[in-house]
Amino acid sequence: MAPHTIGIIGLGKIAQDQHLPTIRANPDFKLLAVSSLRGLSTDDAKYTFTDYRKMLSGVPELEAVAICTPPQVRHRIARDALLAGKSVLLEKPPAATLSELADLEQLADKVGKTLFTTWHAQYNKGVDEAARALAGQTVKTLHVTWKEDVRRWHPGQQWIWQAGGFGIFDPGINAFSIVTRIMPQPVFISRADLKFPANRDAPIAAEVTLSTGQPGVDLTASLDWRQTGPQTWEIDVQTEAGSQLKLSDGGCRLEIDGRVVVDEKPAEYEGIYKRFDELLTEGRSAVDVAPFRLVADAFMVGRRLQVEPFEEASTTAGATKAA
Ligand code: NAP
Repeated sequence: MAPHTIGIIGLGKIAQDQHLPTIRANPDFKLLAVSSLRGLSTDDAKYTFTDYRKMLSGVPELEAVAICTPPQVRHRIARDALLAGKSVLLEKPPAATLSELADLEQLADKVGKTLFTTWHAQYNKGVDEAARALAGQTVKTLHVTWKEDVRRWHPGQQWIWQAGGFGIFDPGINAFSIVTRIMPQPVFISRADLKFPANRDAPIAAEVTLSTGQPGVDLTASLDWRQTGPQTWEIDVQTEAGSQLKLSDGGCRLEIDGRVVVDEKPAEYEGIYKRFDELLTEGRSAVDVAPFRLVADAFMVGRRLQVEPFEEASTTAGATKAA
């Protein structure tokens, strides 16, 4: 079967770190075009544009696009792509608002194209294994600790601090994408303390309380972008039957009752493109709104607390993780 022809819109950090090398290494895809506001290009792409609309109209053989821009502009671009007859892969968060995503889902259905919300953290092997281990169990406690250094992972990214940029929920939504995947019961946000730097429009940290709607269940998420030194992406779970699970390294490592069950390298973007190939081949969409809904709910019920201003004084080189 001929490879799927794909274009990338927005050649920022994630497009360069993950999408380009993953597409290059996957024979089921052929990168045909890129669109970059700054005019960046790549040798693998036959066509380069600065206006994505010209790419959509100018390359009729293009089957799909991966939208790797900030979330604030994703809906407009995804709409234009679907209306131009292209299937769409959405980087996370899939849109700026829930209603934008609902609109895209309906539109994809109407035009008969694939829409795919990617949640990269869900593709790490420990996440699958944790979901299997928790199936049919009752969870008693779940604690998310997602603490990283924003200067290291998001150097110079102004959009992330603007309204609609998600702030700490840009990485926090990855944790929620694991929680919604592994929890055997639905979860709800019951409280959130959102810590906004005095000079920013998005939170730098959040303390979130969740619930399953059942009494006696203790679920929390502690998210913070001010952590220097070792970085922490962990989820600890205890079941009513007494089993203890610890997911660490963003879902790459899983311990159950102190025994290491999985300890593997990230499989995120390989997993995303494998799934996208399946969806395109089968002509189906996969729209998972659950992690996005939790973030929206945290903003909806959250208390806004002001903390000290954030100044991006220094950056640390060597970013390799998909944040
Ligand atoms: P980034 O480095 O800031 O790249 C975003 C790119 O989108 C820009 O460089 C720009 O590229 C393009 N763009 C289009 N419209 C824009 C606008 N109005 N404002 C700013 N840029 C615009 O951000 P990123 O880290 O790649 O993140 C992009 C998306 O991927 C986010 O939703 C993020 O949550 C998600 N993501 C990021 C990571 C990560 O590790 N960084 C991991 C997983 C997912 P051109 O000039 O080339 O058009």
